[in-house]
Amino acid sequence: MSAFTRRNFIGKTAVAIGSFAALQKVIGAGHPTDPGPANPALDGQNPDSIWPPSTDSKSLVQNFKYPFSYANKRTYEGGWSREVTVRELPVSKTLAGVNMRLTPGGCRELHWHTAGEWAIMLYGTARITAIDLDGKSFVADVKKNDLWFFPSGNPHSIQGLNPDGCEFMLVFDDGEFSESETVLLSDAMAHLPSEVLAKNFGVREQAFQNVPKEELFILQADVPGGLEADQKAAAGARGKSPKDFAFRTMEMPPTMQTKGGEVRIVDSSNFKVSTTAMAMVTVHPGGMRELHWHPNADEWQYFITGKGRMTVVATGNKARTMDFQEGDVGYVQKSLLHYVENTGDTDLVFLEIFKADRFQDLSFSEWLAHTPPELVMAHLHIDKATYDTIPKNGAVITPLS
Ligand code: MN
Ligand code: MN
Repeated sequence: MSAFTRRNFIGKTAVAIGSFAALQKVIGAGHPTDPGPANPALDGQNPDSIWPPSTDSKSLVQNFKYPFSYANKRTYEGGWSREVTVRELPVSKTLAGVNMRLTPGGCRELHWHTAGEWAIMLYGTARITAIDLDGKSFVADVKKNDLWFFPSGNPHSIQGLNPDGCEFMLVFDDGEFSESETVLLSDAMAHLPSEVLAKNFGVREQAFQNVPKEELFILQADVPGGLEADQKAAAGARGKSPKDFAFRTMEMPPTMQTKGGEVRIVDSSNFKVSTTAMAMVTVHPGGMRELHWHPNADEWQYFITGKGRMTVVATGNKARTMDFQEGDVGYVQKSLLHYVENTGDTDLVFLEIFKADRFQDLSFSEWLAHTPPELVMAHLHIDKATYDTIPKNGAVITPLS
């Protein structure tokens, strides 16, 4: 790189990434130069790909990051939708994510699908509807950080409320899932002979003459009225469903809290209808989600805020480190060792999602602390004082205190 282009590159990169330490990492002090074409903004977001830590293997672990920024939006008057499935992120075989925005009154059309739908509200407020297996109705209002779960085949809808609608993340327990491959009310009606509809609903054929011929997917409707009135009208003489398809995450205390951060675990032990497990993790600056693995399921991650990096240690002497920020999806296959370190100067908040009834993890430090000390010391060439310092009860998030 000539002095001029190098200075130009450093200048642009410094603007893109902000800190001198991060800049040094991107320009790769001690590495051969990188004089060819470069994208400083993207390089600045991915310092551990540009110059990986020397502990990464030279043989690659399959990509495990996909930013929602790359996902193509489908836009409608009432909102938009974009998705990251196995098509975008081939490693993500068990789970797929759909990010959706609805205006006030904007409605994700009444529909159902073969995958189970887990969701978290990211912004605003929404009204959700479903019915249970006894045909009893469920209508509820949800706000930021609330969850819902609609089991496979359960028909449902989502509608934005005042003042500014909502945005949420849907996670489906099938990597092949696509939000554009669902059974919609409008589709179903458009593909049935009108005499069949008349017989089915006991009305005149002409009653359905204005049914839309095309799918609606997201439609703009009026903002619904009071919740109680909707609940009562939907329940009718049959009464409301005793099942709660929603979960209010912030009404429970953190499952675990350390000096480094906190975690809220929500699975079928506290959210009965859900067959998808979640850990919502907050890591303070300088903290780290400790080294661990999950014996029962792959982990789908969504980064809500902050910056972090993760190394995945795979089988066959392989490891890869990638950087993550707001809006990124990450993925870790079942039983592979990993950590998530806060590399920013604000809280890092991310979700760990599993296609499993229960959240399960094994802590690297807990394992070593509960194995005969001499055996561990013979492997790692560490002294007894170091061994004794290893946390005995796992850390979840470091530092403990
Ligand atoms: Mn759905
Ligand atoms: Mn994990």
